[in-house]
Amino acid sequence: MSNRVEPIRSVKGTRDLLPPDTNLWQRVETEAHRVFAAYHYGEIRTPILEETALFARGVGAETDIVMKEMYTFRDRDEESLTLRPEATASVVRAYIEHSLYNQGGVQKLYYLGPMFRRERPQKGRYRQFYQIGAEVLGSQNPLVDVEVLEMLVLFLERVGIREYQLLINSVGCSNCRPAYLEALRAALQDVKATMCADCQRRGDTNPLRVLDCKVEADQPIIEKLPKIIDHLDPECLQHFDRVRSELQARGLAYQITPRLVRGLDYYTRTTFEITSGALGAQNALVGGGRYDGLSEMLGGPPTPGIGFSIGQDRLILAVQAAAALPQGNPLAVYVVWMGEPTLASAARLVRELRAQGVSVEIDYDPMKIKKAMGIANKLQARFAVIIGEGELASGKYQVKDMASGEQKELEPGAIAEYVKQQL
Ligand code: AMP
Repeated sequence: MSNRVEPIRSVKGTRDLLPPDTNLWQRVETEAHRVFAAYHYGEIRTPILEETALFARGVGAETDIVMKEMYTFRDRDEESLTLRPEATASVVRAYIEHSLYNQGGVQKLYYLGPMFRRERPQKGRYRQFYQIGAEVLGSQNPLVDVEVLEMLVLFLERVGIREYQLLINSVGCSNCRPAYLEALRAALQDVKATMCADCQRRGDTNPLRVLDCKVEADQPIIEKLPKIIDHLDPECLQHFDRVRSELQARGLAYQITPRLVRGLDYYTRTTFEITSGALGAQNALVGGGRYDGLSEMLGGPPTPGIGFSIGQDRLILAVQAAAALPQGNPLAVYVVWMGEPTLASAARLVRELRAQGVSVEIDYDPMKIKKAMGIANKLQARFAVIIGEGELASGKYQVKDMASGEQKELEPGAIAEYVKQQL
């Protein structure tokens, strides 16, 4: 009778990221750190657990995220906690909690990390997914909007994404949106009954959300609804015009998309999305926009803000599709040692090379040279260093270029430099 136990599998909608894929994840993250640092952003790390009220207030009680998708639970002391579904609300909470507004000027922050939403899993959509995002707090200057987009585009290009579209819109502000919402509600009165159940409900509770509807049959109806950019007040219109002209001046291509209102409640004025044809059905790669009222909604001082969030899982799919970054972690050197007396010298060389940042592999079990060279091949090592008793006596090791077959004799101290030059 077998008493093997059932193996436990990862939770639905979550996944393990394994090498060599994780190497690509690291490269993308390294590029994010580099590009954001060049624009003088600092990294913020907020907790994954937050009070549920943060998202109910910050993201909006009527949004799909808050209504259907949050991982919310009661802690042992009955407090309601939630695994963050996004990070902007957390960043603004931290901005208020640490009075970052007292530091003067604008605060430019970026983050990387996992988010949690209970969505229906499919390719490019997970329940634990990863975002790379940035936020600027303390300026409503439209040039800041444009700089944020410029940085985003530079980052995408740095990781090799060429095929993408920048979609922009303005959703106005608390001054002009109410009149637009009235116009939208009035227009919906006539057509609502013919729309999907969600739209019928949203038509009353949150009519802006109707514009997000993906139901095929509703699309022609939505196309004819009033457009928010036709209802902007003079300040919002001027802001949007400046964003557009400056994008043009910097050679950043965009497309105005009047229906782009985004799924979260906190957006004001500029909203944007970046889509990529390489992604199939889940083609939204980046979402973002301005949220000038969010700080106040969370109990902070009036503070305009703008930010974006890149879906890292989807970014990796797009990078792979573009074959843009080399994959895997290439091995520079495999060290072959022949006979017990050479092991100590081999181990010393391995340690020295690794200390100089050269990636090295060694097997500690003795084996025949043929087998060891077979392993060097299988690992796709760029070089094999061979140390036998002869090499030990002469003080010069054999360094074999595995691609060309060329072999050189080098003193141990010269190997790191030689290998680095060739890589
Ligand atoms: P959002 O926070 O909804 O504006 O989303 C920003 C970006 O995060 C989207 O454009 C996607 O690339 C990514 N994203 C959102 N939800 C998921 C998910 N469930 N799985 C994978 N990526 C997601």
